[in-house]
Amino acid sequence: MDLGLRGRVAVVTGGSSGIGLATARVLLEEGMAVAICARNPQRLEQARQALSACGDVLAYPCDILDTAAVAGLLAAVSDWQGRCDLLVNNAGQGRVSTFADTTDAAWEEELKLKFFSQINTTRAFAPMLAGSGQGAIVAVNSLLAYQPEAHMVCTSAARAGVQNLLKSLAGEFAPAIRVNSVVVGLIESGQWERRFQAREDRALSREQWLADLAHSKKIPLGRLGLPQEVARAIAFLGSPAASFVTGTQIEVSGGLSRHI
Ligand code: NDP
Repeated sequence: MDLGLRGRVAVVTGGSSGIGLATARVLLEEGMAVAICARNPQRLEQARQALSACGDVLAYPCDILDTAAVAGLLAAVSDWQGRCDLLVNNAGQGRVSTFADTTDAAWEEELKLKFFSQINTTRAFAPMLAGSGQGAIVAVNSLLAYQPEAHMVCTSAARAGVQNLLKSLAGEFAPAIRVNSVVVGLIESGQWERRFQAREDRALSREQWLADLAHSKKIPLGRLGLPQEVARAIAFLGSPAASFVTGTQIEVSGGLSRHI
């Protein structure tokens, strides 16, 4: 199916690793020009080099929690292409902590990351997206929004709030900009690589560690997802192929959810 993305422009936050990097690649392969941002300039440059074989890429170092940096990203995209048709709000990470061991400062930090990683870029790019004619926002969120886990208490609560925010945005921005999300389960990425590197049993191979993780989490499809499996859902939601889809989500979790 032709998604109808050719010749359009996307911005992918957190595009230097994992889901964001895979999304940038899929969108380039669909014929879009893609701007990526992340904080670490070396990893961002490596990503730019890897992606440039696939198409037209702009890499802009930017912490999406810094509104001045986001304004710089907007200006760079404006100078580069003069338009933006798709914003993928993906940058971020999870926080592992129970209620008992989450301090007020940790709550504030987590709520700020989850909400302002959506708010700052959305506020900056909304006028450009509205001018696109077929503007779209796709947020990357977690299944924890619907299925909280006690060992990730503040991440779960914040993610539920973000789904609520996105629903409001879908209403406020309609019909100019569609707003949707992917809610992901466990996806092989930088986050899980860091936890693998910190594993207690140093003798465990990556393959065995991932297989044990999938088994312990009871993922029906029997494995973690791959970043490109999320990227394909993002590309669909962000494309004219999903022209009557807004205010909703696609779950990419290998069947992990227990709710209807
Ligand atoms: P990765 O760690 O592989 O990638 C995260 C990306 O976000 C990196 O490019 C990172 O670069 C960037 N980033 C993080 N914080 C900021 C910031 N403040 N400003 C700009 N860029 C930032 O993780 P994933 O691909 O797994 O994660 C992508 C999204 O999916 C995240 O929001 C994550 O919470 C979510 N998610 C992932 C799950 C999984 O199982 N993988 C499960 C549930 C949700 P840098 O550090 O250089 O800034």
